[in-house]
Amino acid sequence: MRFAMIKFEKTVRYSKILSPLKNFEETLVEFEYRLDPLTGRNTTVIKGMLGYVQKFLRTDESILNSLVNSTRINCPFCPENLWSKTPMFTSDIVPEGRIKCGDALIVPNLLGHAERSVLAILSDKHHLKLNEISPKMLLDAFKCGLIYLKRLAEREPNERFPVFIINYLPPAGSSIMHPHMQILVRETPFFLTKLLIEKSEEYYQRFGRKYWEDLLKIERNGDRYLFSENNVEWLVPFAPLRGIAEVQAIVSGRSNLLELKEEELRGLTEGLAKILKFYHQESLLSFNTILISGPLDQHLDYFDVNLRVMARPGLQGIGFTDAWALPYFLWDGEAVEEPEKLAERIKKYL
Ligand SMILES: [Zn+2]
Repeated sequence: MRFAMIKFEKTVRYSKILSPLKNFEETLVEFEYRLDPLTGRNTTVIKGMLGYVQKFLRTDESILNSLVNSTRINCPFCPENLWSKTPMFTSDIVPEGRIKCGDALIVPNLLGHAERSVLAILSDKHHLKLNEISPKMLLDAFKCGLIYLKRLAEREPNERFPVFIINYLPPAGSSIMHPHMQILVRETPFFLTKLLIEKSEEYYQRFGRKYWEDLLKIERNGDRYLFSENNVEWLVPFAPLRGIAEVQAIVSGRSNLLELKEEELRGLTEGLAKILKFYHQESLLSFNTILISGPLDQHLDYFDVNLRVMARPGLQGIGFTDAWALPYFLWDGEAVEEPEKLAERIKKYL
């Protein structure tokens, strides 16, 4: 391999069972352990698991419809309530109270998850299917988010670690149905941001090269690479963080969100809308995405802004969740199918 400093390490182990599905014949079950090439974190790929969990990924349309209707009443983000029920910024940060750009509106969060925690409301529609979340909606929200970050950088330069997050629908952890994005900013980085920055720096010091650049050089010719759009490259990660249909995007040469150019924002939002359309095609309706940034006040030669998106279970009476003890407590990853197979399906769809 030309870039031998990046290793894609896999170990395969088996268990032997007498399977009731095969008339109690001896059957091998395969476990493939994959280490994330940057962090070394393990993800276990379990072949055939996708077929098993498929029933939890479907959505009961009648439950979805009744949830849409019941949450529509008094929704704080619907147009008739938006101006009276959402908080306003203090005038030192946003003199006009809220930030509007295109169809997106940014308001502070009532409770929040970080000392600077704001929301971008994506649309005046209370519910959107994943194929209805347009690149423009996402672009307006991202642009709005950057306006907020610029104001924050001028007035509170210590608040320098932002992350953009979308938790879409209750299976993805959202308490509000209405499509929205969260922008969380702290003085100290979130754990994953810190880990990625530290490991990227370690790699840079050890090999004198940027990990993200080396990764793309290898992946571009491989099975997991999806497409490139305006300097944003999309791929399925070798060792997904969590599991269902996880996709990653990397913006080369930009280490923080304030460095992103208009065309790169388009590359991110158009790419994300494409992946959401693919999820819709796979009958998925809930997802999480994170856009990770280095510190806003400096350029890091060894780090690139990157995004992750993954699907979550469907909406059903059983209330199944894939947020269980293994990822939560044991901090291990598990993938329900081989990342290369997922990449093949996405490419076929696109
Ligand atoms: Zn609403």
